[in-house]
Amino acid sequence: MNNDQNNRKPQKNPNNNSDDSKKVRRIVSLVVMALVATLLINQIYNMISNSYLTEITYDEFLDLLDTGTVDSVELRSDRILILTREEAAKPTNQQHLSYTGLLPGHDMDAEYSRFDSLGIKYNTELPEEASPIVSFILSWLLPVIIMYALFSLLMRGMTKRMGGGFGGIGESKAKVYMEKQTGVTFADVAGQDEAKESLVEIIDFLHNPQKYTAIGAKLPKGALLVGSPGTGKTLLAKAVAGEANVPFFSISGSDFVEMFVGVGASRVRDLFNQAAKVAPAIIFIDEIDAIGRTRDSKFGGNDEREQTLNQLLAEIDGFDSSKGVVILAATNRPEILDKALLRAGRFDRRIVVDHPNLQGRYQTLRVHTKNIKLAEDVDLHKIAQATAGAVGADLANLVNEAALRAVRQGRKTVNQEDLLVSFEVVIAGTEKKGTVLTDMEKRIVSYHEVGHALIAALQKHTQPVSKITIVPHTSGALGYTMQMPEEEKFLSSKEELIVELQTLLGGRAAEQTVFGIQTTGASNDIDRATELARKMVTQYGMSDKFGLMALSTVSNPYLDGSTMMNCADSTASAADAEIQQLLASCYDEAKRILQEHRSLLDEIALFLLQKETITGDELMTYVNAENARLPEAEDSENQETVSDGTAPADTDADSTQTEI
Ligand code: ADP
Ligand code: ZN
Repeated sequence: MNNDQNNRKPQKNPNNNSDDSKKVRRIVSLVVMALVATLLINQIYNMISNSYLTEITYDEFLDLLDTGTVDSVELRSDRILILTREEAAKPTNQQHLSYTGLLPGHDMDAEYSRFDSLGIKYNTELPEEASPIVSFILSWLLPVIIMYALFSLLMRGMTKRMGGGFGGIGESKAKVYMEKQTGVTFADVAGQDEAKESLVEIIDFLHNPQKYTAIGAKLPKGALLVGSPGTGKTLLAKAVAGEANVPFFSISGSDFVEMFVGVGASRVRDLFNQAAKVAPAIIFIDEIDAIGRTRDSKFGGNDEREQTLNQLLAEIDGFDSSKGVVILAATNRPEILDKALLRAGRFDRRIVVDHPNLQGRYQTLRVHTKNIKLAEDVDLHKIAQATAGAVGADLANLVNEAALRAVRQGRKTVNQEDLLVSFEVVIAGTEKKGTVLTDMEKRIVSYHEVGHALIAALQKHTQPVSKITIVPHTSGALGYTMQMPEEEKFLSSKEELIVELQTLLGGRAAEQTVFGIQTTGASNDIDRATELARKMVTQYGMSDKFGLMALSTVSNPYLDGSTMMNCADSTASAADAEIQQLLASCYDEAKRILQEHRSLLDEIALFLLQKETITGDELMTYVNAENARLPEAEDSENQETVSDGTAPADTDADSTQTEI
């Protein structure tokens, strides 16, 4: 610790003391630059303005006069401009005037009479010349001043972009943001209770560090907030600062990416210096993966990033945690971070900021509608249900879109429809009214979506379909089928998952059954079905062949849920075969169901084709009519299926959207 402190001194001192000398040096260099630029500009100006002049001697001038080539002359203080007859005849902009130095003290009267006798026009009054002082000011002083101003502006802009310094202190102006008071509290952060809990201690520490240091406790210097974009990591960090009532410094790792070597490191240094001055404080480093990526990556070294990272590590180790500076960093890819960053005493605490669950989404909607006038019919629970998978930022966006829509329509309150429509805009993409599908394509999409919906509607263990549409969305989906659960689910049984597989494959099954074709529209379905089938076989222990053996492990449960196979290669290929088999049987079953209910499929597909969007209720009227017609239909199994609880509630899909 002592060592660290000593090491830091030499870094700090020159930095602080040299502020003045740096300033002087900066001004001098700017003046020199301005002078040189002015010189250059004057030189260039002279070259250009004289380029159309050819200099001749006085004798040559006299010769010209004798031969009668001269049309007129223009007397200047330092020269005579000559216009030849040729030039006078066809005036161009680039007259080729010649000149000669006019000797001072020359007998001008003799010249005048010579001109008179030759009939050459001339001016007797010399054009007003500016005094030498004025011309000096005009051609030298002013340009130098302008240049100086220009350069210093330019430099400022550049250093701002490159970073360094902060708040006008020192040479470099960084994109470091400092808020004395964020004004954000935990009340502004909906849900995320676990994350908040972990942060409470940090707040207490910032409130009174002595309590901890007195007992000899060392608090973590930093914590890593891990979670997808928009889940509220920045918001949480600000809330910590707000709750502790300390200044909030923030900087984004991605700002360092296009920086010159050395600038990033100096910026990090500045950042910590500034924070130390006003400690206790929070330093928030967003997207830390941009600088903190593993140093020995395959992508080749990046000197700047490494220097920045090294400086960051040095600063983290160097600062005295009893001062009360806490570093919070955010990333959505902790796995690529350099191990050095995660070592004890650095970011050894990891705080997971998850996608919000149903309750979290509801609370987020509540927070964001706090200052919004809501109509009577608004049911935020419904919206929360429909927005599974959405993060806080999406929901904030959704509410705002809804408010904008209400204003556009001249209403004073936001109603449920505003929210529902905005949901489609924000989460499902905007309705693309302009996309033109051929009639055939429309028919295919219609059958495809009804295929999904019917499989779901005709079976048990499914989530009710709430909407089917063939209105294309900017997300690229040509249509989608939305299923909404009655309540949030954490466990799914094997039967439910099988039906989900059949539902996913129902789109393709319908295309195949009706048109005998296979289209690209099913690619997303197939992706998702394959992923689900793989999980069932390799993680959930739901295949007869492998039973309870876990063949893969989730390497990163908090993020994308990417998995690693941990079994022999031969087992892996056997698993692939099992997955294939599972998919094939589900597909066959989907086709069988659709063939059995072919007329119903046709009926609803036609209805959808006309209406473009149908509700779950409309779908169920058809399905119920069919069930009434075929009372003996379908299996009569009725057992409750309860999962054994091992299946991870991987159901981010508490509402499912099956897109073509
Ligand atoms: P991240 O830093 O994780 O990318 P942000 O903190 O920048 O996400 O979140 C962006 C916006 O989304 C916030 O300003 C806030 O309006 C909204 N938001 C995100 N999560 C929440 C939450 N849990 N509660 C309330 N609002 C949230
Ligand atoms: Zn589909």
